[in-house]
Amino acid sequence: MAEETKVVRATAKTLLRRRLRFARTRVRELRMIGKALASTKHPILVHVIPMRRCNLACTYCNEFDDVSNPVPLAEMKTRLDLLAEMGTSIITISGGEPLMHPELDEVIRHIRRRGMIAGMITNGFYLNQERIERLNEAGLEHLQISIDNVAPDDVSKKSLKTLDGRLEMLAEHAVFQVNINSVLGSGVKDPEDALKIAQRAVHLGFTSTVGIIHDNNGQLKPLGEHEQGIFEAVMELGKRSFSRFNDFQHNVARGKEHDWRCRSGSRYLYICEDGLVHWCSQQRGYPGIPLAEYTPEMRHREYFTEKFCAARCTVSCVQQVGILDNWRDPQNLKPMPMTPPATPQTQLVQIGQGRGDS
Ligand code: SF4
Ligand code: SF4
Repeated sequence: MAEETKVVRATAKTLLRRRLRFARTRVRELRMIGKALASTKHPILVHVIPMRRCNLACTYCNEFDDVSNPVPLAEMKTRLDLLAEMGTSIITISGGEPLMHPELDEVIRHIRRRGMIAGMITNGFYLNQERIERLNEAGLEHLQISIDNVAPDDVSKKSLKTLDGRLEMLAEHAVFQVNINSVLGSGVKDPEDALKIAQRAVHLGFTSTVGIIHDNNGQLKPLGEHEQGIFEAVMELGKRSFSRFNDFQHNVARGKEHDWRCRSGSRYLYICEDGLVHWCSQQRGYPGIPLAEYTPEMRHREYFTEKFCAARCTVSCVQQVGILDNWRDPQNLKPMPMTPPATPQTQLVQIGQGRGDS
């Protein structure tokens, strides 16, 4: 693509602001790791959903609607206050499409005001220079965009072609860290697209991660030989990412089960638009308790609860959080009975810093 060679330069002032924010975020991340190693009593990472509605309708996605209203700002602040009081280190805003929330900037400000690291996953369609500047001002620290293909198709409009101009704007104006997630696996028409997307991301100065899509009944399927080669090439390009420390992505690519301890419900929480706590985006419905009623004892119980879905888990952000506790505290409690889904769903397997659904 011609765009791949285009040089995008940030101003000296933007570069300075970017370096300062990156440095401060690194210090805060190191503190987050120290605090997580010193105590198991607080959540490390929490996903919050201020907006379930999305402007797109990717055919594999089970995490959006086209009708719901934004969660009121006051309610979002109450939830963030509860999470701050639990000692939460990182908040990732997800959706739906969070940029559709009319008071998103204030949500981000409140996360920072409460001393937590602020990240966001978006499809990027609402980004423009003014919006990026507002995100800079609000104090955003991480942003992830998932790009599914080079050209839009019936499955997904999140293509390099539609988003490349916005990526250039981010390279020029954003002072927060940007990660681009590409995808490989079942349903991906051209595996070469993942490499082109990752190369473009790195060329623009972003980090790059890769997710693997499986359309199955929860069974991990290995990538084919050609796709494995592309996977390794994208992983090499994305070596600045924290995900390189995790064997998980290689196990997923090879279709192998993974031996780890999922601490969802404790060290990781997924808070839906209704303010209920769930294990994660792929296990919504349990424990299903309102955040305000979710006690330290409940978190403690979930910390020691073995998750039946762990061996074949495909949710990378929870696996990365798990690294900090995998070495300690075996899990010997069983969860409350759960009803498995009636119909198998296509799974978007995430291998990166965030869920990358958008
Ligand atoms: S799907 Fe993964 S992250 Fe979610 S509860 Fe199961 S093991 Fe944990
Ligand atoms: S994957 Fe993201 S952009 Fe696509 S429909 Fe789901 S929430 Fe919207």
